Amino acid sequence: MLQAVSVVHRGLFHSCAGLSVRMSSTGINPKGLLANRVAVVTGSTEGIGFAIARCLAQDKAHVVVSSRKQQNVDLAVATLQGEGLSVTGTVCHVGKAEDREWLVAKVLEHHGGLDFLVCNAAVNILVGGTLKASEEVWDKILNMNVKSPALLLSQLLPHIENRGMRAVILVSSIAAYVPQAKLGVYNISKTAMLGLTRMLSLELAPKDIRVNCLVPGVIETRFSQFFWNDFKKEHKLQRQIPDMCSVLLHMLGQPEDCAGIVSFLCSPDASYITGESFVVTGFSPRL
Ligand code: NAP
Repeated sequence: MLQAVSVVHRGLFHSCAGLSVRMSSTGINPKGLLANRVAVVTGSTEGIGFAIARCLAQDKAHVVVSSRKQQNVDLAVATLQGEGLSVTGTVCHVGKAEDREWLVAKVLEHHGGLDFLVCNAAVNILVGGTLKASEEVWDKILNMNVKSPALLLSQLLPHIENRGMRAVILVSSIAAYVPQAKLGVYNISKTAMLGLTRMLSLELAPKDIRVNCLVPGVIETRFSQFFWNDFKKEHKLQRQIPDMCSVLLHMLGQPEDCAGIVSFLCSPDASYITGESFVVTGFSPRL
């Protein structure tokens, strides 16, 4: 009993902030929580995806990182391998069918299949209100943020191994709960991810594949720089966010704050959790 509690505790409350500060294994599975599993993480050469890739690899999964640019893939792979982690990488622009096929081929070639898919890559176009957005902008955002995770999953599905723990993690945003005026269609695409999570969890339950959703708040990455840069300078963010909510832990989240929950959701500790969304926002945006 004590052992089970300590595993859950570790999975839930200790972020993968880097090798030096990560909790060591409790000894329950000395090989690592996710040993001998293969995880594919899209958009994982920096920011939240990179932190997730590192955390999964620290839990001893083999991780396939990917993004649009070869040089970014090479750098991310070199960095993580330099930390002694089991990581390979390949280029994949998730909005391009041929790149998704390439990713599938590489996963099969190197690993023969996979256990976990984390759909993290997304696009964010600052067009303001939805009614001002062109059809091209609607198509680009919905194609990238909503369609491509579903299409990639359907391409990888025949190759998701039946080894007892199989999980898909989609990435939404606080903008799904608290839409931001500047973000227009992006807000809607991220709300759609909550629906996609519910729908896919239903479809994949008979196959014993769990589907859950990570909902990051304002996390200090390049992606959200437009949002936090000015506020940070003027120390306004802290005042703005509590207007939308009641409690704020601290000013900005870091990518590592989003990583431990993904490892947990892939682990056996989450074996009875599916169709659920997990907010990592420093406050509670829900009732
Ligand atoms: P980030 O730091 O800008 O990193 C984005 C990563 O995705 C990079 O590795 C980038 O590498 C890759 N990428 C970009 N476009 C891609 C594409 N079309 N196909 C494949 N890879 C692509 O972003 P982030 O802040 O970590 O955001 C990651 C996810 O979290 C997104 O789904 C975002 O909506 C969500 N999110 C972020 C925040 C936040 O505050 N940061 C808040 C809520 C939700 P390349 O340039 O080499 O492609």
